[in-house]
Amino acid sequence: MAARISRVLHRSLRETPPKAIGGEGVYLFAEDGRRVIDASGGAAVSCLGHQHPRVIAAMAKQASTLAYAHTAFFSSEPAEALADTLVGHEPGGLAYAYFVSGGSEAIEASIKLARQYFIERGEPQRQHFIARRQSYHGNTLGALAAGGNAWRRAPYAPLLSAAFSHVTPAFAYHEKHDGESDAQFVARLAAELEAEFQRLGPNTVAAFLAEPVVGATAGAVTAPAGYFKAMREICDRHGALLILDEVMCGMGRTGITHAWEQEGVAPDIQAIAKGLGGGYQPIGAMLASGRIIDTIRAGSGAFQHGHTYMAHPLACAAALAVQDVIREDRLLDYVKERGKQLEQHLVERFGNHRYVGDIRGRGLFWAIELVADRASRTSFDPALKLNQKIKAEAFANGLGCYPGGGTVDGVRGDHVLLAPPYIASAEEIDLIVDKLGTAVDNVLRSVNH
Ligand code: PLP
Repeated sequence: MAARISRVLHRSLRETPPKAIGGEGVYLFAEDGRRVIDASGGAAVSCLGHQHPRVIAAMAKQASTLAYAHTAFFSSEPAEALADTLVGHEPGGLAYAYFVSGGSEAIEASIKLARQYFIERGEPQRQHFIARRQSYHGNTLGALAAGGNAWRRAPYAPLLSAAFSHVTPAFAYHEKHDGESDAQFVARLAAELEAEFQRLGPNTVAAFLAEPVVGATAGAVTAPAGYFKAMREICDRHGALLILDEVMCGMGRTGITHAWEQEGVAPDIQAIAKGLGGGYQPIGAMLASGRIIDTIRAGSGAFQHGHTYMAHPLACAAALAVQDVIREDRLLDYVKERGKQLEQHLVERFGNHRYVGDIRGRGLFWAIELVADRASRTSFDPALKLNQKIKAEAFANGLGCYPGGGTVDGVRGDHVLLAPPYIASAEEIDLIVDKLGTAVDNVLRSVNH
């Protein structure tokens, strides 16, 4: 019998993935009977695993009360309560939440809010945004312009805003020079950002945009100590805003609610998504500081932006339940503890591996990077599509992990990202590392390494 053609437009137009028919805890069940341990939470989404009973109960309650009301007419209790859990806790800090349907929308809103803020302050010339190479901020045209993957942007170049330029990321494994200390590396990156401000004209820059821990494009890359403080200082000196993208690394993923708390800086605007709703509903948010919103309130009085499904009551109720579970069950302590165990096991399994050049991450957000030669940090030939092969091999053996790297501005860094649910047990963490080790070795053997 001929295979049934899926009318769903999947990422691959050649293969249809198996249907997922259920889930429980860290596991997903496929229609073909396979049980897959969701070691990357999809793409760092499922922070509570699957079918968490308290989240499902909260969603059922909200669905039976009020699923949707348009924000042109109404607010809702779940939206108000979710905003109260997220913002307004520190004087002068992030004070308002703007709920959207995902990460790209949160980034779009962040860019537009920054622009509107400066227009209403009487600085309409602040039109430039500086982001970083090897970054991903979403797939809509504005977010794509912000992202620093040249190959991803190239096909759409004529459609993308020219308002974005990109500087070197704080990616020590590839960007730090031999013999350079962390402090020297930070100073060099700061000098580059300063030079970019000067090139554009310091009073034409609206914001610097970065991920505190880089997720999909580079694979759990943390910045050296002092980097974000240095970036913040440059923004402050020139009156520009700091926008942090915590779509992947935020909401507890690194062992603390916001990854920027570990950097000793706070953003003016922040994008969150994925772990906010844990995949139970599509939801993201832009968080904004009081000074930005107060300026607009005193000016035009309205943020010129909006979506049909913003502050969706059912989505907000699901996210509220996810955040309640994380707080009530003290899961961030668990993320720190399990994260140490994950790091230790990755180091044991891959620390001396001939083809693993780097093991990096924080909390329950880790990646291994594969290299053809450890000494020179030479990447494998991209044509081998190693990261995709490892993903497929792992999946066939019941492990979901997230491949990344791609041809990124000349740097090929095959990496595999792990972002297990915060509820993963010690045994499940062991199993993840074991299965990943087997997949990596099988694939390398099959490509004659
Ligand atoms: N920003 C970062 C850092 C991301 O990792 C992603 C998605 O992977 C996005 C933005 C875009 O989010 P979404 O896919 O929900 O639109």
